[in-house]
Amino acid sequence: MTRETAPPLDTEFQRLKPELLAQAIEQSPLAIVVLDRDGQVQYCNQGFLTMSGFSRAEVVGIKPYPWNHDADTDATYRSLLASQVGDDCWRGDVQSTRKDGTKYWERQVVSTLRDAAGRSTHLVVVKEDVSDRKLRRADYAQTRHLHERALASSSNGIMITRSSEDDHSIVYVNPAFERITGYSADEVMGMEGRFLVRDDLAQPDLDHIRAALREKREGSATLRNYRKDGSLFWNELHIAPVHDLTGGETTHFVSIINDISERVRYQHALEYQANHDSLTGLANRNLLNDRIEQGVAWAKRNGHVMGVMLLDLDHFKLINDASGHSAGDTLLKEVAQRLTACVRETDTVARLGGDEFVIILTDLPQPGDVDQIAEKILSTLSRPTEIAGREVFVTASIGVSLYPRDGDHGEILLRYADMAMYRVKEHGRNSVRQFVPEMGSTAISRLDMEGAMRRGIERGEFVLHYQPKIDLVTQNVVGAEALIRWQHPQIGLVHPIEFIRLAEETGLILPLGEWVLLEACKQQVLWRQQGLPPLKIAINMSARQFRQDELAERIAEVFASTGADPAHVILELTESMVMHDVDSTLVALRALKKLGVSLSLDDFGTGYSSLSYLRRFPIDELKIDRSFINDIHTNPDDAAIAGAIIAMARSLGLSVVAEGVEKNEQVALLSALGCNQVQGYYYARPLTVGAFAGRMREQQQRARPA
Ligand code: C2E
Ligand code: MG
Ligand code: MG
Repeated sequence: MTRETAPPLDTEFQRLKPELLAQAIEQSPLAIVVLDRDGQVQYCNQGFLTMSGFSRAEVVGIKPYPWNHDADTDATYRSLLASQVGDDCWRGDVQSTRKDGTKYWERQVVSTLRDAAGRSTHLVVVKEDVSDRKLRRADYAQTRHLHERALASSSNGIMITRSSEDDHSIVYVNPAFERITGYSADEVMGMEGRFLVRDDLAQPDLDHIRAALREKREGSATLRNYRKDGSLFWNELHIAPVHDLTGGETTHFVSIINDISERVRYQHALEYQANHDSLTGLANRNLLNDRIEQGVAWAKRNGHVMGVMLLDLDHFKLINDASGHSAGDTLLKEVAQRLTACVRETDTVARLGGDEFVIILTDLPQPGDVDQIAEKILSTLSRPTEIAGREVFVTASIGVSLYPRDGDHGEILLRYADMAMYRVKEHGRNSVRQFVPEMGSTAISRLDMEGAMRRGIERGEFVLHYQPKIDLVTQNVVGAEALIRWQHPQIGLVHPIEFIRLAEETGLILPLGEWVLLEACKQQVLWRQQGLPPLKIAINMSARQFRQDELAERIAEVFASTGADPAHVILELTESMVMHDVDSTLVALRALKKLGVSLSLDDFGTGYSSLSYLRRFPIDELKIDRSFINDIHTNPDDAAIAGAIIAMARSLGLSVVAEGVEKNEQVALLSALGCNQVQGYYYARPLTVGAFAGRMREQQQRARPA
C-alpha cells in the first residue's frame, strides 16, 4: 500500500477542523480507539463504548485492557509502533470480551500516527463487530460438513453427474454406490451416468429418465442395472436437477440409487406363486381365470371357438391311499407332463387342486375338434406309469364347454364343463362329454338373467348366508362374512359366481349392494338384541359400488337408519379395486375409515400385491386367497409363501385371515405361522341366518360353566 500525498485542506475546513474532526470520529459507526506509545488508551469514541459495553472511564488510561488480555495483540501493537515504515498497518480479527463478559469478534485495522519527523506517536485502532458474520460462516462450514457426511454415509447409492447436453459424466459417487455396484469411485469418475444400464436398453422406464434429463426436472424409474461382475440388480432410481448458485441453470443431476432386488425377487416369487401350481408348475386357478378371459376376448375378436376342458382322474384317491402321498404326487406330475404334450403351446393346462385339471383350447377350427383332442388325452393317459417300481394305470373323466355356445365368461364355462364331467363320472368314467343345457338346471341365459335379477330384487328373492370367521387362538367364532345367494323360485339357490359379474356389468350391483349392506346391518342389530356375542360382520363390496359417488354418505345413512354399530362392520375390498387409481382410492378409503368401519383386502395375492401401496392404505385386515391355502399342508413352498405374507401383514399391523380352510392340518400350520383368523368349510360352510344363530348359541353354552 502506498500513501498518496494528502491534498491541501481547503480554508473552510481549516477553520472548522478541530470540531469537525472530533465530531466525525466520535460519531463514526465504527469503533475507534487511539493508543499512545505505551499502549495506554488516550481516546475511544462512542462506537467503541456501544460495542464493548464499557464506560469511557473504564477504558481511557487503563492497561491491560479489560476487553483483551491477549499478549499477541500487545506484540502486534509494539511492532507497529517500532516500525519505521510510514504506511504500515495491521489487519486482523481479534476476539474480545464485553463488559458483561460475553465474547465477540472484532475486525481491526491498526495504523500508526506519526509526528513531523516520521516517528510513530500513536496507534489508531478501527474496529468492527463481526461476530455475526463469523457465526454464519461457521454455520455454513458445519452444514457443508454435514451434507458431505450425509452423502457419504447414506445407505442409498448417490451419484452426481454433469448436466450439459453432451456431457453427463460422473463427478461424484458415494461409498454406498461403490458397495451396490462393485465399482470404485476412481473407476467410474468421468464415465457417462447411464453406464449401469449397459446394453439392456429396451426398458420402457428408461424413457422417463431420458425425458427428465432432457427437461431438467425430477424423475423416477425402476431399472435393470448391472454390477461390475455383470450381475443384475433392480434399481429404484430417483434423479433430481441441481441448480447453480443463482438458482438458474441446471448444472448437475443427483441420482439416488436404491437396490430393491430383494423386494423384486419377493414380488416375483409371490406373483409366480399366485399364478402357478407348486407341485406341477402348471397354471393355477388365478392364471387360468386370466387365460380364459384372454381366450374369450381373442375368440370374440376373431370369430373363433374356444374350448374349456375339465378333467378329473378316476379313482385317484385309491392310488393315493394305496401307495402314499408321494406316489400320488409323482403321478400328478406325470399327468401334468402328458397333458401338456397333448396340446399346443398357445393352449393352457392348469391344475385346480387335487386331481382336477383344466385345459383351455384356443382357436378351435370346429367345435368337434375338441372331442378328438379329448380322445388323444384319454389314450395318452391310459399308458401305464411306473411309480415306486410298480405299473399304475390311470383314466380320466372329461367334461367340455365351449365359447360362445355355452357362455362367455370363465366361471360359467368352468361350471358347465364341471357339470359335463360329473355326467361322465355318473356314467362309468374314462370318457368325455360336452355340456348340454339340460345338464344344468340352473343354467339361465344371459338375457333372461338380467330381467330375472331385476324382478328378483323387487320380489325379495335374495338372501344372505353367513360364514363364520374363527379366531385361531380361542377357536371361537368372532365374526361372519355375509355372502349373497339368490333364492330363485324355479331354479332354486343360485350362487354369486353366476350373477355378480352380470350385476356388475349392468349396474344392478348398486341396488343389490345397497340391499346387502342394509340387510347385514339389520341382522347385526337383531343378533345383538337376541343376546348373541358381538360379531364383526364382513360385507363384500364390488368395484362399481366402491367407485360410487358419495359412497361413505350412503353407508352412513344405512348405519343411522338401522342402528348398526360401525365398529362391528368390516368392508371387504379386493386388490384390483384399490390398485386401480391409487390417489382417488386413498380418498375413498379415508372417507370409509372415518365412518368407524374396518377395511379388509379380500382375495389377497391374486392381484398386484404392491407392498408399498399396502403400506399407504388405511387397511385393517388381509384375507389370504384360497389358492394360497389349498396345498399349504403338503407343499413346503406354499407354506413358506403363506408364512411370508402373514409376517409381512403383521409387520404392517394388519390382522390376517386365511380363506378356504378345509383341513385340520391347514389349521395347525396357519396357527403356527401366526395367522389370526380362519374361514372355511373345515369349520363351517356359509350358513342360513337360523343355522348361524344356532351355532353361536352352542358356542355360548360351551363357554358357560356347567
Ligand atoms: P369371497 O368374498 O372371497 O368369499 C369367499 C367364497 O369362498 C365364498 O363363495 C365361500 O362360500 C367360499 N368358501 C369359503 N370357505 C371355503 C372353503 O373352505 N372351500 C371352498 N372351496 N370355498 C370356500 P361364494 O359365497 O360363492 O361367493 C363367491 C364370491 O362372490 C365372493 O368371494 C365374493 O367375491 C362374491 N360375493 C358374495 N357375496 C357378495 C355380495 O354381497 N356382494 C358382492 N359384491 N360380492 C359378493
Ligand atoms: Mg369376501
Ligand atoms: Mg375371498
